[in-house]
Amino acid sequence: MQENHTYPIGTPGQPWGDAERDQWRARQVRQRSHADDVLRAIDALRNQWDVQPYGEVAYANAHHAPEHFPLQALRSRHWQPGLPSVLVTGGVHGYETSGVHGALRFAQQHAAEFAGRANLLVVPCVSPWAYERIQRWNFDAIDPNRSFKEGSPAQESAALMRLVAQHQAQYGQLAAHIDLHETTD
Ligand SMILES: [Zn+2]
Repeated sequence: MQENHTYPIGTPGQPWGDAERDQWRARQVRQRSHADDVLRAIDALRNQWDVQPYGEVAYANAHHAPEHFPLQALRSRHWQPGLPSVLVTGGVHGYETSGVHGALRFAQQHAAEFAGRANLLVVPCVSPWAYERIQRWNFDAIDPNRSFKEGSPAQESAALMRLVAQHQAQYGQLAAHIDLHETTD
């Protein structure tokens, strides 16, 4: 018996258009809250970290009510020129939950160990819409991890690139970037 491995949306070999993206989006169900899980956890860290807003992700179209997600990073409170600076990111892929919660837990439990040793910039959830849907792609069916490039089509990637560029212009080159992914199968 032959199995049908064809994806249920679109035509094999042909790029998706708006209609296919709408079909795909209609199947994505909001299952958890970025505000509750991420923004609230970041807010609770204000006594230890500087919270740095770095824009927002905003989505809407004819079939979809507007949604806004504030983007927030955590920055070492006593940023010291001369120390190596390290970027930690989670949730570039929204369905890779351990990266989001791992970055938050790292910020909650291990920040003090790096005081005087490294400057830390932690972005716990790069792709909030996808985090809520437990999805790899963003609202536009784009993989943010394939979109870290000039003129990025992914708002999430463009915002993170702006944050990093601004940071490096102000504080100098980052020494390392730890990007938290996981295998899902
Ligand atoms: Zn990933």
